[in-house]
Amino acid sequence: MPGVHDENAVTDPPAGAGPCASPHWRDEVCRRAAEVPEITAFPGVDALLRAFHALAAEHPDLVRPSRIGTSRLGEPLECFTVGDAAHAPAGPPGPQHLVVGGVHPNEPIGACTSLHLARLLCEDDDLRARLGATWHVVPCVDPDGARLNEGWFDGPFDRGTYARHFYRPAPREQVEWSFPFSYKGAYFDQTIPETFGLMRLIDAVRPRLLVSLHNGEMGGVYYYLSRTLPGLVEALHAVPAELGLPLERGEAEDPLAQVWADAVYGMADMRAHYDHLEALGLDAVAAVGGTSSADHAAQYGTLSVVAELPYWSHPAAADTSGSGRRYADVLTAKAEGLRADGALLESLLARAEPMLDAASPYVRASRAFVPMLGHVAEHEAARAGLPAADREASVAEVFSAEDLVRCFRLRYGGMLVRALAGPVAAGTAPAALRRLHAEAAEVYERWQDEAAQLEGTRLLPIAQLVGVQLGSTLAAAFALVDEAGLAPGGGGPA
Ligand SMILES: [Zn+2]
Repeated sequence: MPGVHDENAVTDPPAGAGPCASPHWRDEVCRRAAEVPEITAFPGVDALLRAFHALAAEHPDLVRPSRIGTSRLGEPLECFTVGDAAHAPAGPPGPQHLVVGGVHPNEPIGACTSLHLARLLCEDDDLRARLGATWHVVPCVDPDGARLNEGWFDGPFDRGTYARHFYRPAPREQVEWSFPFSYKGAYFDQTIPETFGLMRLIDAVRPRLLVSLHNGEMGGVYYYLSRTLPGLVEALHAVPAELGLPLERGEAEDPLAQVWADAVYGMADMRAHYDHLEALGLDAVAAVGGTSSADHAAQYGTLSVVAELPYWSHPAAADTSGSGRRYADVLTAKAEGLRADGALLESLLARAEPMLDAASPYVRASRAFVPMLGHVAEHEAARAGLPAADREASVAEVFSAEDLVRCFRLRYGGMLVRALAGPVAAGTAPAALRRLHAEAAEVYERWQDEAAQLEGTRLLPIAQLVGVQLGSTLAAAFALVDEAGLAPGGGGPA
């Protein structure tokens, strides 16, 4: 999910994160996670919304569709309110839960999860009653971005196909990271319409639970929580174990995140990132943009949960044994890899720049991400110089450091190729741009070939990935029922 970096602080977890007796709902959550039926493709925007409207037509008393906004390209942003009080005239009473898919449009596992969850809530009266909440489900909050990923949603689900059709908006155009933010020298208020729609919904329903549906790419399962509750961490570990999915063991995606348990982190905090960058002498104002949905919802005491799932796993990503290499050297090699790839892409982009059209989302994304490779390289080089980096790296850390270089060149190289391909396909590219496109495509093919040589990658079944998001959502909802003392039979666990 997030961005920026340094050594993870291993912190005292908040109350409730420690060991406790198994929660009474743990086995049910694991069972429901394992019951997700086979899924062979990710739905495109139209198919996803058709499925939700069909569900609403099937359960008119339980599902209320509404519109929460409009995308920049004019798509309605839809919300489906699910629950026995969905049609209450003065707004549904009791706890409100909010589940949002497509916050990053290259992360469509949540589209399947949102549909499966809504269907489950409609079809299982007993579950719905025991959870005792009204659910607001936004299946796809960034339809414009999702459509630009649809080229890989039907598979084949290899990394090459994914990267060739990958689109991720520039950070300031991401729904998740464009909530208003003001801290020290940073001030961000260029909130995009999609984020405004979600922000209004958060402010209207003041959710008790917010599940922002993200996913990663390669490695293992991990989570971000805004706080934790008795039994929740145990359930978050039990669900992937039940499904045979590994926990993430390598470099944390957000190296600043507080570690509360294996693969369970405190929610990313932009203020902490700002302070960290400032302390390293880097330009925090330039690097920090907006904040997250979880940060915005924190004012309502909301429990925010993010389950990050990979599409692929690799044995090395779960290997915590020593690699025989110094961690500082691993970071230095990572920085060198990112610096070299970044310089190559920057050169291509700079030469193409006078001929590019900012109306293209690929151009805007390339302008944001291509320089980012160099910035991350600078940051990793700074981390390599810290005393904490003078230790042996694990095999998993080596793998994830190397894989980040692979991931970035495949993702952002691919988007630059698509940025240059636009005018070529439209028949408007000057000869110089056509030549640059050919040059970029040749480099990119080489990177694709190198990445394809990585052996041992395992494609994970989509249904299992959906199962983890479903299981973690249900676990959080059950834990909130316990916390509120609303469990059947007078408040305590049965
Ligand atoms: Zn994400």
